[in-house]
Order: sequence, then structure tokens, then C-alpha cells
Amino acid sequence: MKGSTIGRSRVAAAAFRTACDSPLVTAHLKTLAQLELAEPNEVVQWQERRLRRFVDRWASAVPYYRENPEYLRSSDRTAAVLDKETVRRSSAAFANPKVPARQVTTGGTGGRPLNLRISYSSFFSEWAHIAYVWSRAGVRLNDPKITFRGSSLGTGFHGRPMIYQRTYNHMAVSPFHLSEATFTELLSSIRDLRPVAIWGYPSSITPFALWAARTGPHPELARLRAVLLASEGALDWQLDLFREVFDAPPIRWYGQSEKVVFGAECPRFPGHYHVTPTYGVAQVINDRIIGSGMTNAAMPLLRYDTEDGGALTPPGLMGGRCACGSPFAVLRDVAGRWDQSLVYGTHDEPISSAALNFHDEAFARFDRFQFRQERRGEVELRVASAGRVPDSAELEKARCLLQHRVGDRLVISVTVAAADDLLSRRGKILMIDQRYRPGQADFSAMPAQPT
Ligand SMILES: [Zn+2]
Repeated sequence: MKGSTIGRSRVAAAAFRTACDSPLVTAHLKTLAQLELAEPNEVVQWQERRLRRFVDRWASAVPYYRENPEYLRSSDRTAAVLDKETVRRSSAAFANPKVPARQVTTGGTGGRPLNLRISYSSFFSEWAHIAYVWSRAGVRLNDPKITFRGSSLGTGFHGRPMIYQRTYNHMAVSPFHLSEATFTELLSSIRDLRPVAIWGYPSSITPFALWAARTGPHPELARLRAVLLASEGALDWQLDLFREVFDAPPIRWYGQSEKVVFGAECPRFPGHYHVTPTYGVAQVINDRIIGSGMTNAAMPLLRYDTEDGGALTPPGLMGGRCACGSPFAVLRDVAGRWDQSLVYGTHDEPISSAALNFHDEAFARFDRFQFRQERRGEVELRVASAGRVPDSAELEKARCLLQHRVGDRLVISVTVAAADDLLSRRGKILMIDQRYRPGQADFSAMPAQPT
């Protein structure tokens, strides 16, 4: 288990290292820089040509589209919207077997795992687009950073509160050790690093920001240019807090594991995401974001329903640009996977559910799962499998994996539930069934409700 974590960590680190000076990343950034100079209508035309080329080259060999050729006419917007359940049930029919890829599991509708194939070059494209977002805030991929993220970087902290990773050039702080002692140690250990950005989950950065507000100003944090927010929604009071305490703008981006649409937050209008034309084509149908991705040739998804809500508008008034200068279309009011879910550790410290990242083989064996918290520092993973009862070895394996990941901040148990019990009243699964309310002791400055 330890070996596989380190193995994955090495793969992730190698991908990042290669991405930093990969010609593919440089090429993407150059194309985006050129497109930024084009007029909005030219960007739209460029994107149509690009999608046409992608579909002809990669989607035409995909079994599902050969059977449903209306998808192969990219100007034809009458092809049915592809829903997650269709892709989940017959994911092999969406694969282009000639393209080498990695297998990735993500959450589908109703908490059922969705298996995806992601091409290797698509991982680089992802970094290129993240590099683009960061560069708009004056941060390069390999600039020194403080990072508050968990296992999604493949990082095993193995009980330590923080580790320096040369590849990422960051001091990574464990989301399970967010205490005053850790923050004090962090400041003394970043004196030579001279970080220019903070990168991580809003819920993990928040305790640090509150501590810094109480104990600062700290000269170690004076060079920060941006707070780069990953993976989950941030509430308005958190954005205000980061802006004020770190004297740097929070920067967000929008994307999905299925890699169909990518949005870079506008530096002028928070909550507006400019759709990067090199990544995918976005549409909004019935208030839902529908995307045709152009970076993942191993599993092209066309007119795919992200299940995220949103609104799509031109960049500026009357065919013009956004006030920030961008000619790229804007996604607003993005809602969905970003609903913030938290669990609370042994000292009531908030822990992002994203840190419980369960994209693992051991979890793909269950059809549905849900975390439930009823007591401080304890989380129960409830699982169900259609037509069979998971055996105790499977449950123990899942428990071990999770417990190893969260260290001593949470006690994990795994139980079997009936699949119907894992449905909320609206028929959609609740990823986190939070029944516990934290006390007001250490984190009293955090409002319980968004303001
Ligand atoms: Zn803008």
C-alpha cells in the first residue's frame, strides 16, 4: 500500500516535472497568447475548426460515435446530450483504443464510479491550462509555493505535518495537521523558500488564514502574489479573508475529470470563468454546462453533460472583449460539484472532503458510497454493491487505505448499507451526510453559514 502511494507520487511528480518544460505545455501557452489577441468572433471560428479536426481525427474511430454518426458532424448541434450514466454503462464504447492512456475512476451520477481513459498528453494539456490560469496572476508552475492539499498529488505525509517537495518547489502541509504548532513551524521553514503563492483547498487554507490574521503580519508571507484555489468551492467570506490576510487575489479555475471544459477565472470579475478555447467547446443547455473536450483523444466525449449548472455569455458587450482584455466566452454562476462539504477532525478542525479522495481501485468495487459523520473526529464510510454483499476483506482494505490517508485526525470505520439508504430524498446521493456540528472552540472566527 505504501509502495503504491509512493509509486503514484513518483508518476505525478514526473508528470509535473516534465510539464514544466514540456514543448506541449509551451505550445498551448503560445496558442492561448495568440488567441487572446484575436477578436471574439475569430476565437469562435478557430474553435469550430479545431473541434472539426479533433472529431475527424479521433472521435471517428470511437464505436459509440460510429453507431451514432450525428456526433461526428460537429456543426450539427442536434445530437443528443450525452449523460454520465450512458458513458458509465458503456465506457469501453467511448474509447479510442489506439491512443495510450491511463485508467482513472471518478464519481458518476448517484455516487456510482465512472471509469475514464485519459491520454498521457491530456495530463500535459491539463497542466498547460493550469499554468495559463496561474500566469495571469504572475505565478509560474515551478515558483515557490505553500501547498495545502492532500493525496491528490499522490503525496503520503506518513504522519508528518509538512514536507518540502523539490519537484513542485513547494512546502506541502498535510490537511490533517492544521494546528497552531504546524503553522508556527511552517513559517520558520519557509524563510528561505520565499513563497509567492498559496495553493490548495479553501477549507485547508482557511485555518491558516485565520491564524495569520490573529498573529501577523508575517514578513514570510509578504511576497504572495496569488492564492490558487483547487478542487472545491470557496465561500465569499473565505475569498474576502484570503484577499485581506494575504494581500493577494484568490484565483480559481473550473474543470472536470472528464476533461470537456476548462474555465480560467477572470481577474476583473470574480466568479466569471473564461472558457479556454484550446481545451473544449462549452454550451449551456437547460442551465447545464455541456462540453465537447478536445484534449483527451483516448476517450473523446462530445456534447457531454457535466451535471454542473451555469450560464454562458459572450466576453463583452456587443461582440467586444471582457474588461480584463480576454476575448474568450464567460461561464457564470457555476454550481454543482463545488458545493462545499467538510468533515471535522479530532479538534474540530475542518477537513475538505476532497482530501478523502477515494479514486482508488479498492473503492471502485463498491457501487455507491457515502461518508457520514455523527461525532467529532469520527467518520463512517458507508458502501453498497448491487446484487452482492461486500466481504469483510474488501471493507478492511478500504478502511486501511482511508485511515492511512487521514493519519490521526480522523478515526475511520467502514460499514455496509442498503443502496436505497444512500439516496437522498431527491434521488441523488449525498457524498457527505454531515450530522455533526463542530464546537466553537478553536475555529470560532469561522461563520457556520455562508454570508
Ligand atoms: Zn475577464
